[in-house]
Amino acid sequence: MPNPVKTRVINTLAELKEILSTVKKEGLSLGFVPTMGALHDGHLALIERCKNENSICLASIFVNPSQFNSSEDFKRYPRNLEKDTQLLEKAGCELIFTPIEADIYSGPAIKNFEFGEMDKVMEGKYRPGHFKGVADIVSRFVKIIEPDKLYLGQKDFQQVAILREVLKQMDSNTRIVECPTIREENGLAMSSRNELLNSKDRNNAGIIYRTLCEIKEGIASIPIETLIKKGMQKINSVNGFQCEYLLLVNANTLEAVTNNSDVDTIQACTAVKVGKVRLIDNLRIK
Ligand code: AMP
Repeated sequence: MPNPVKTRVINTLAELKEILSTVKKEGLSLGFVPTMGALHDGHLALIERCKNENSICLASIFVNPSQFNSSEDFKRYPRNLEKDTQLLEKAGCELIFTPIEADIYSGPAIKNFEFGEMDKVMEGKYRPGHFKGVADIVSRFVKIIEPDKLYLGQKDFQQVAILREVLKQMDSNTRIVECPTIREENGLAMSSRNELLNSKDRNNAGIIYRTLCEIKEGIASIPIETLIKKGMQKINSVNGFQCEYLLLVNANTLEAVTNNSDVDTIQACTAVKVGKVRLIDNLRIK
């Protein structure tokens, strides 16, 4: 059945504020899905969930320069606003916000967020400044939009943990809804960056999820150190693949876990470089 929702594309902060004031006046529940575009089924699952749980679904498309720690990566990041708009229209997303940099960054930062060790490990270690950029842009969006719910993908596990902290430090009433990772047929976590892989590497990249699943199977009987060593070896055995890190962390604090019996919730997290493309993935293993 055709979707009856008329999608509105908003380019300026002024227009967004005007529309939001109507949404709030009418007491409509508002869900927000921040994205950097190049949309795939992972993003669309967030949109679907947001639509199911709110009267209005607002998605943003903004390739945020401050969260890239390499200008080459920023330039190379796939962009396709026309196709994204069509996908969001088809999905029945009511509002699309596509700001320009000067508009969204016109005022001062919302807060100088502090994350302790949380933004120093894993992605924070290999992409210095990345989470400061994420926190800055998402806090600006949340301050303006004040959504009831913020939809985030578990695929970016550390980002979810950081953004929980951001909302806490902002004293925000917005609630995070964490959505499961959507995968390609071979298990590779869907990502806009997958488009940058050649077909051989994209096929081979299924090894990342398989490795995480093997760690989950082994966690009860094999020492963590061995699981990590074997897992890294397995990923690195694929031609052109280089595992940057493979860590088992406390799912709440992101502290590295060395002994299975020490904590109740463990997440296996990894980042793998395939040529110039960097892939991340994670899996709850306990
Ligand atoms: P991005 O456009 O990469 O910034 O992602 C926007 C949102 O979509 C983030 O909350 C991501 O975690 C989420 N997301 C990206 N890929 C997936 C996926 N494969 N499954 C579920 N959520 C995803």
